[in-house]
Amino acid sequence: MSQNLTKQLLDWYAQNGREMPWRVKGGAHPDAYAVWISEIMLQQTTVATVVDYFIRWMKKFPNIKALATADLQDVLLAWQGLGYYTRARKIHECAKVLMEKYNGKIPNRREELLKLPGIGPYTASSICCFAFNQPETVVDGNVMRVIARLHGITKEITAPDIYPLAQKLTPQNQGADYASAIMDLGATVCTPTNPKCNQCPWIKNCTAYKKRIQEKIPVIKKLAKKEKFGQLYLIQNNQGKYLIQQRSGKGLLAGLWEFPWEETEKLSSQKYPHVVHVFTHFKLTLELIRFSAEKAHDFPNGVWVHPKDFDKYPFPTLMKKVIRKL
Ligand code: SF4
Repeated sequence: MSQNLTKQLLDWYAQNGREMPWRVKGGAHPDAYAVWISEIMLQQTTVATVVDYFIRWMKKFPNIKALATADLQDVLLAWQGLGYYTRARKIHECAKVLMEKYNGKIPNRREELLKLPGIGPYTASSICCFAFNQPETVVDGNVMRVIARLHGITKEITAPDIYPLAQKLTPQNQGADYASAIMDLGATVCTPTNPKCNQCPWIKNCTAYKKRIQEKIPVIKKLAKKEKFGQLYLIQNNQGKYLIQQRSGKGLLAGLWEFPWEETEKLSSQKYPHVVHVFTHFKLTLELIRFSAEKAHDFPNGVWVHPKDFDKYPFPTLMKKVIRKL
């Protein structure tokens, strides 16, 4: 049964699979570096958004050596807008390790990949699969939905619940095509709403279709997001410049630029304009409060920058929302 399903899916993929700049049909991608970069970017956002970022990135840093020798500031600028900047810093760090210890090449063994900065189990599996055509099982949101519907699973699920079912369908010698195929099926046919079941190669075996409960599946376990608050200081001098500073330390946004701000317990009672940003694990609401240049004394590391020069500084998405409100 699973072999039939796998073959049906691969045949469907050969006809209907999507074209992407980091993908080849019929086996592994010849450039593991391209696979690695696209995989990290795809963890941030949609395929449609990643295409432009990926093309720009590969022009700017065409290989591991170019990336390893680039300035971190340039790497962060190329990442600007994708969010979660720790990933960009880790990519840069990883490129340096690859140059120093791996002769500028990405290893093809999972255990070696897991030793590298910023490469966790999901990325290691993806690289083994897409760059080296190994029979690795990759489970993302699309795969979870397709497999849960195929088996008609109506209870709450997590990726580890789906893994063994997805693994059974993974072929030994066409790992890359199979993983691309199931992701494409989820993205284009077995969509969250209005799945196009009559175009699906698995329609005859699909429990959700038989029971007409496709849209009730999957039920994914969700973690509640915590709420956080803060006050952000828009300090402006009489030349129209704003005070910004670079974040230090190792946190999520380290190395990026921001307007000075601090966390507060709750919002003040005054009606300040505000911006809201949702991070992976929490939601942050910042009140925007204007000050004259004297307030700059509180921030000795700040620099004065005119809004027309903001594009020379990598800002996180949260701060770009602030800039749109200036
Ligand atoms: S038959 Fe419909 S619900 Fe079932 S896997 Fe295919 S597209 Fe998804």
